Amino acid sequence: MSRLISQEAARLAPYTPGEQPRDQQYIKLNTNESPYPPAPGVLAALAGAERERLELYSDPTCAALTQAAADFYGLEPDQVIAGNGSDELLSFAFRAFCGAGRGPVYADITYGFYKVWAQFYGLEPTVIPLREDFSLAVDDYLDARGTIFLANPNAPTGIALPTGEIRRLLEADRARLVVVDEAYVDFGAESCVPLIRDYDNLLVVQTFSKSRSLAGGRIGLAMGERALIDDLNRVKYSFNPYNVNRLSIAAGAAAMADRAYFERCTQAVARTREYTTEQLRALGFTVLPSKANFIFAKTECLGGKELYRRLKERGILVRHFDQPARITDYCRISIGSPKQMEALLAAIRALLEESEKEA
Ligand SMILES: *Cc1c(COP(=O)(O)O)cnc(C)c1O
Repeated sequence: MSRLISQEAARLAPYTPGEQPRDQQYIKLNTNESPYPPAPGVLAALAGAERERLELYSDPTCAALTQAAADFYGLEPDQVIAGNGSDELLSFAFRAFCGAGRGPVYADITYGFYKVWAQFYGLEPTVIPLREDFSLAVDDYLDARGTIFLANPNAPTGIALPTGEIRRLLEADRARLVVVDEAYVDFGAESCVPLIRDYDNLLVVQTFSKSRSLAGGRIGLAMGERALIDDLNRVKYSFNPYNVNRLSIAAGAAAMADRAYFERCTQAVARTREYTTEQLRALGFTVLPSKANFIFAKTECLGGKELYRRLKERGILVRHFDQPARITDYCRISIGSPKQMEALLAAIRALLEESEKEA
């Protein structure tokens, strides 16, 4: 830190992104990107007209993108806002819907960024522990005061809540906002987007980084009733009006337009997830029941950190979390292509044999 840093910035506890190594060709199963390229129309859109207009600012309303998303979901464009990644929109939601006396409410084990934003905005969070089996019990949230942030499916567990349970939470207090972070919903869980019609206290946030193969495009969406989207726009226009660049608006709209490609990719990932889960269980692993594009798994033979380290030695990157204590035996493994997962399984079989010999 420099001697010039403000006290406020000195107190921040920044998010640590997963490794993005440049030194070696790893099989990268650590940040839940898609193993498949973006839809063909995305590349065509990037080769097209927008490239020639980069000297002009992008559309601050991102109309092409919000229209494509509205068409996809059967919403009106003013029920959608686009962001520079869903992280930006989640951050806007923390600013728009939390404050003094109304802190964020989230699980002890969930997306690590919620804690970072709580601190960034000087908010008082309420942290509600997951149950012993890592499930999230809506009953534990019914009386919570504040703005609830739920990742569904949850990260890094992969466990999904049925929308009926989220509906119960929305009903319990219509004056309380529930933000559902659906970063992983497209791999087999149920989306809350259809509930937007019935609940003005629901905001759904999605990302193009996982199911739409555009992590590098930095595109996210938030969807909800108009007044909620207005509130987010208030924050956005106080921070960065041209938040999504021209190329990403075009890329995102093209990705949204190709439903068939999206379904093929997400279904392929779901199938590979089921296969990998089966294989790991056959090797004695505990694997939580995931509806996401990753699995959370542990073995009795090696600690989580050791598994991470030894896989990395073999050129495979997975993610390990040092906190909290009850997840340190686990590794989070992104679902790659079938070939990448065979390489992972082969590496794990070899590791297990090694550790047997050592014992
Ligand atoms: C990946 C992820 C995000 C962020 O996505 P970006 O659109 O890449 O910013 C948000 N929430 C959860 C739970 C995620 O896993």
